[in-house]
Amino acid sequence: MMKAEKYDVVVVGAGNAALCAAISAKEGGARVLVLERGPVEKRGGNSFFTDGAIRVAYNDLNAIKNIIPDLTEKQSESIVMPAYTESDYYGDLMRVTGGRSNPELALQLVSKSYETVVWMRDQGIKFELNEENQSFLQDGKRIFWGGLPIKTEDKGVGLMRRLFARTEEMGIDVWYGARAVELVLERDAITGIVVEKDHEVVKVETSGVVLACGGFEANKEMRSENMGDEWEAAIVRGTEFNTGDGISMALAVGAQKFGQWSGCHSIGTDYNAPKVGDFTKPGDIFKKHSYPYSIMLNNEGKRFVDEGADLRNYTYAKYGREVLKQPGYVAYQIYDAQVRPMLRKEYDLEEATYYTADTLAELAGSLPVNQKQFLKTIEDYNNAVQDGEYRPAEKDGKGTKGITPPKSNWALRIEQGPFYAFPVTCGITFSFGGLQVDATGHVLDKEEQPIRGLFAAGEMIGGIFYENYPGGSGLMSGAVFGKLAGSSAAHYTKEKVDPIKHY
Ligand SMILES: Cc1cc2nc3c(=O)[nH]c(=O)nc-3n(C[C@H](O)[C@H](O)[C@H](O)COP(=O)(O)OP(=O)(O)OC[C@H]3O[C@@H](n4cnc5c(N)ncnc54)[C@H](O)[C@@H]3O)c2cc1C
Repeated sequence: MMKAEKYDVVVVGAGNAALCAAISAKEGGARVLVLERGPVEKRGGNSFFTDGAIRVAYNDLNAIKNIIPDLTEKQSESIVMPAYTESDYYGDLMRVTGGRSNPELALQLVSKSYETVVWMRDQGIKFELNEENQSFLQDGKRIFWGGLPIKTEDKGVGLMRRLFARTEEMGIDVWYGARAVELVLERDAITGIVVEKDHEVVKVETSGVVLACGGFEANKEMRSENMGDEWEAAIVRGTEFNTGDGISMALAVGAQKFGQWSGCHSIGTDYNAPKVGDFTKPGDIFKKHSYPYSIMLNNEGKRFVDEGADLRNYTYAKYGREVLKQPGYVAYQIYDAQVRPMLRKEYDLEEATYYTADTLAELAGSLPVNQKQFLKTIEDYNNAVQDGEYRPAEKDGKGTKGITPPKSNWALRIEQGPFYAFPVTCGITFSFGGLQVDATGHVLDKEEQPIRGLFAAGEMIGGIFYENYPGGSGLMSGAVFGKLAGSSAAHYTKEKVDPIKHY
């Protein structure tokens, strides 16, 4: 083992949660070290891959103008932006998690969201309006909906660039290619952390560790053990480095598992997308979200879900999982020439992979599917389509009759060539299960007592998200609990008292 280094606070990971923790610990007067498992060109974790959408509670447009000072008076005048209060946010969190989100953590996330975004602004993070995904134009006004009107400038790439700039500006040390492997606990308190770096093992002496090194979505074994065998085959949408190290290290020193270990966020994604996120192509470019206008067939040539059961927002997280249950973990979204021009822009990217042919028989012949059944399923579907007005922007009730599963909305006959088949599989975004922390970010043991000197933030906290999450709350949770965990750790290392007493 190489000679020991010494820091007040060591932050494990270099994504959004970790760098918020590092900056906040430094503000608290601590000497801080950040450990990033990836090399410099693969730094920034899942946070780097995000769209930068961040869900914050706000009372009115003035509150948003405070976050985006560049917003001009003229722009503001044409904006209609309903308030998204703390109680709206809390309500959404509880609704999408079936009421299971831990109330103490949920409340902390919601009630600290606004002040944390303002703090991020003060650290140099730039925000802009989330116009593309969360607004529409009507009578010359831009109308925002969905409680998600802001995102970071240049998406996750911009967020991480600015967080790293601030980290450097504050003189925080960052080690790259540095994988934390073990926590050192002596007399019930953290005294150090063991790190693999440049093929050496280094011990860093510290009394405060903030684990912010992601969930276990990139770990095949942990996925299949906790979520089911089929999850071994999932594509990892973000960083390859989130293999649950932080969670395993904490469990080894007595932390407690918390939250929905069998759950994760996932979506349908291009079957030929890279098996793990490609840092040279960040952004959500492989999703395939126009499936409500398709029918989806597996390689036995059969349908398996009601593609048009509801608006995309309400089915996309569920249907990724359903694809993973199909033989070969693949499904084909089928479109004809009438629908093809209506598809979302990801279908036009050069990364999109697809098969096309002038006739359905030729299309079937080009796919590795049961051709006879494939053609019969499409014929049966076409015969089952009912008349009615096709209205793609809303649930139009134009469905099928007499087939199982039905297609409840947006059912058009697949009849005009050329025809298209987009192969999709399931891409995992992040795992929901993790560690238990208190409202200050202190990691709890099996008796729900703080493990002295051990803090956690971000994806690796369990108990906030179950089954689903309100879009944009991953980054917000990372920032809120990162900031809290960083200041708690700095405070603890100075005073050696449990920070919970001071909040
Ligand atoms: C394609 C995609 C789009 C998304 N879009 C959004 C969005 O728009 N809005 C939103 O809120 N959420 C979004 N999410 C979810 C969001 O990415 C996460 O909720 C959030 O980024 C998690 O932040 P984090 O800091 O906890 O983890 P990460 O950003 O993943 O950071 C974890 C860090 O830990 C490091 N690490 C892992 N193990 C070790 C170890 N042993 N030692 C040292 N370092 C280690 C990793 O290299 C990484 O730097 C998206 C996710 C993906 C994949």
